[in-house]
Amino acid sequence: MNATFLNYVDGTNVYDLTRAEIECRRQAVQLTGFLKRHVPGFEKAYITRSAPHIGVRESRRFIGDYYLTYEDFLQEAKFKDVIARSGFYADIHDPKATGGMHAPGKGDASKSRGDFDVPYRALLPQGIEGLILSGRCISAAHEAQASLRVTGPVMAIGQAAGTAAAMAVQAGVAPRQLAIKDLQERLIEQGADLHQGVPLAPIPTPRQHA
Ligand SMILES: Cc1cc2nc3c(=O)[nH]c(=O)nc-3n(C[C@H](O)[C@H](O)[C@H](O)COP(=O)(O)OP(=O)(O)OC[C@H]3O[C@@H](n4cnc5c(N)ncnc54)[C@H](O)[C@@H]3O)c2cc1C
Repeated sequence: MNATFLNYVDGTNVYDLTRAEIECRRQAVQLTGFLKRHVPGFEKAYITRSAPHIGVRESRRFIGDYYLTYEDFLQEAKFKDVIARSGFYADIHDPKATGGMHAPGKGDASKSRGDFDVPYRALLPQGIEGLILSGRCISAAHEAQASLRVTGPVMAIGQAAGTAAAMAVQAGVAPRQLAIKDLQERLIEQGADLHQGVPLAPIPTPRQHA
């Protein structure tokens, strides 16, 4: 049950993180009491464990050779150096709301129609050589990150980042010098769907939240 929530937390500050862990564990205990008292079937329920540390959806990110924007998300941008794709809606959690769910912003960011490409350039931090980014810290605006940070896309991004790192080492080149076609071919061999030339799948009905 994805139920506890806390906003006004700086995910880069250890004191805030500690406060969040204490508060969310308090919420879990409170929620358990509620379920036991009011929801049939939970009468004998008890907590066995909680997460070892607090989960944070968004904090620091790099600026890379490409910066994915909200427009890229809305327009389902396609890039020649695609290494992964994200088809999830923008899972934006309103930092000001007490309940915490969606803040669509302009347009309706909660309804992605298809998917957008994650370009290899978004994994290469500006001004740093020899480093490949992976996961939710890649170069993307808040709204684009709200889609690509979910587990499916970050797994695909991680696969691409790891494959690129290995190929760069084998070829004896910096990640920026890696031939993108070779990387894409290797990813496709591994089963990645970079959807080159393949028509978009039908639009799924968006879930309410993740
Ligand atoms: C409350 C919450 C609910 C979510 N719900 C969903 C959901 O329903 N569906 C969904 O798809 N996504 C969901 N997400 C989003 C998704 O889980 C994360 O965005 C995603 O896991 C991020 O992946 P990542 O690889 O970038 O980072 P992480 O999964 O955080 O992985 C980073 C790893 O690096 C390790 N690490 C950190 N520092 C070091 C170090 N110095 N040395 C070695 N290792 C280190 C950490 O231990 C960790 O294992 C949720 C996120 C949160 C916080």
